[in-house]
Amino acid sequence: MVMALSIQFGTSNQHKTTLTVLLEEQKPGMTFTPNITTQIDDLNLNIEFLGFDQTYINETYITETVDLEFEHTPSVPSAILEFDINFNYRSEANRSALEEYIRSIAVNGTDTGYEIDIELLQEDLATGERSNIFVPRDGMSIDAFDVEEYLYQNFFEDAQGSEPGYTLFLMNYSNLDSLDHTLEHWYDVEGTGMDSNETIDYWYSSYANISKRAAQGWGGKYRFCYLDLSSRAWYLDFVKTAWSSMGIGSQFYYSYPDLDNLTQTFDIETTEGYNMVNYYITQWINSYVGKVFSGPIYDNPPMGTTYSLQILVLNNLTDNGFPEDDLQWVISANRIKDQLETDMPWLNWDIEIVWVELTDHPDLFDYIQNNVREGINGRYIDVMSGSPLPLFYMLQNQLGTNFNMHAADVVLPCYFFLTDDISFTYYGTSFAGLGGMGWEILLGTQYSIFDNATIGEPRRGYSRVMIHELGHSLGLPHPHDGSWGWGASYVAEVMSYFAINDGFSQFYIDGVARTHANYHFYEADIEYLDAIDLFAQLGAPAHVEQLLDDIDQLLDTVPGMYQQMDYSGAANASIVARELLELFNIEIIKTTTEPSGIPLIAGILLPTLVTLVIGNLWKRKKR
Ligand SMILES: [Zn+2]
Repeated sequence: MVMALSIQFGTSNQHKTTLTVLLEEQKPGMTFTPNITTQIDDLNLNIEFLGFDQTYINETYITETVDLEFEHTPSVPSAILEFDINFNYRSEANRSALEEYIRSIAVNGTDTGYEIDIELLQEDLATGERSNIFVPRDGMSIDAFDVEEYLYQNFFEDAQGSEPGYTLFLMNYSNLDSLDHTLEHWYDVEGTGMDSNETIDYWYSSYANISKRAAQGWGGKYRFCYLDLSSRAWYLDFVKTAWSSMGIGSQFYYSYPDLDNLTQTFDIETTEGYNMVNYYITQWINSYVGKVFSGPIYDNPPMGTTYSLQILVLNNLTDNGFPEDDLQWVISANRIKDQLETDMPWLNWDIEIVWVELTDHPDLFDYIQNNVREGINGRYIDVMSGSPLPLFYMLQNQLGTNFNMHAADVVLPCYFFLTDDISFTYYGTSFAGLGGMGWEILLGTQYSIFDNATIGEPRRGYSRVMIHELGHSLGLPHPHDGSWGWGASYVAEVMSYFAINDGFSQFYIDGVARTHANYHFYEADIEYLDAIDLFAQLGAPAHVEQLLDDIDQLLDTVPGMYQQMDYSGAANASIVARELLELFNIEIIKTTTEPSGIPLIAGILLPTLVTLVIGNLWKRKKR
């Protein structure tokens, strides 16, 4: 068996392009100014402390040190997010109310969670074995979702206030630990496998024997996250040990895996201790702001309104004793479509899955036979090396042959190999999916999809991997990549390696929607000005005047929605405006080309059409 991780192609290349010229800042209700190439967004970043003494927090240092300005997308127009950081200290009444709630839902006692046998993990990493590295531990297991909901119901509205933005609750519930901290507390999340409908019993490490995953906080459903700095979970121990080669960001939160650990090492009453605590808090805030709240989008993602995901399953398992009927659960068009329509309702999604035998593509079959190698993890193909050319480029060259590249505005093709125990690696790292190129590769074997390679014992489906890889092609990174590190893993986010469900977090939905709203609004703006010119040139034909007014009114609603962070609504309205502008262009031409009488009919019909399309807009917007 192999390590199964899904990696992003080209993450090392996260360039920040030089800013295009800033022409004008957009304000709600303002009329449109053409050619805005950079959009400035001011958002609040609310840091809500629970269980912290204000005298130990150095707000000036944190404000000066945390990154508060982001320009992730190089698309035109790009958006710059500027965060205004606010600090708030919750009352003792708030703190103790939440503690009481936590105690009422927590399971406290023997074998309530796990820790990791680090030595065994290191042996596994050296040999390729997969031992049971999880050791039962005693302590307090807290349902992470319940706490998220409690914060939403009780604290979030105050924290968020009337200004749009994001909130990070920073908590210190050190008193939930035993006095000597041998018994810790942590926040458990449990997910359901989307394909098998079984409880998830795998994660990206390919260890299959743990269902509950301990986190130190949670978030992603709403526009906030929480992090309990005094809680202690095994996840970062695993990351520190197993992924140390991947550039895991700040070493500081691995050296001091919880706040108690830090304050036991450094006395907070000393200057050094005070500085350490503030540095530690700052690193965590940076992790959330940089890779979660800022909704990063990279690499000029393709833009359009219709998206076609085409998956070609190249099945070599059926020839090796696994009937196709027993394999089909592995990827589901309906489930992928449902998720994408829920998270990105302003886009039209078409998902197509075609199953063929790998032997139907003899060139690929032969290629794999001829290029397979043997490593400590078994047989594998390195997609970036091979003869006569690397598999990666072979697949890329064949995209036009294997997929309908004109099926939609944006076509996202995917090769899904089901091989007889041959893994794929990318520069030495095994993957379940490789994405972000605008096309993807998925790889499954009988060992990755079934426990013990046994039909009827589903282990991992690939619909979630598909959504994750597609997310890369929409411009999304992993929340844990790069300089901000793995601290941002505790989010319900399909782009995280800690994912517990198939959906994108509210933060990443915002990131994609913001980019699409900017793009379509920009285009609609230009097209609208062209339409006004044309209207004037043709002597203001009366039958399209109402339509033009409707478009104007619709476009006027966009900045307000955008300012209120209704990015999805703003994208949707911009797209509908563009559709109406297309209709306008068709109708206005009729003035000069059609006999009289027709424009009158069009004049009666058009308002109905507009109502229909706008009605459809709101229907589409509804979740
Ligand atoms: Zn990835």
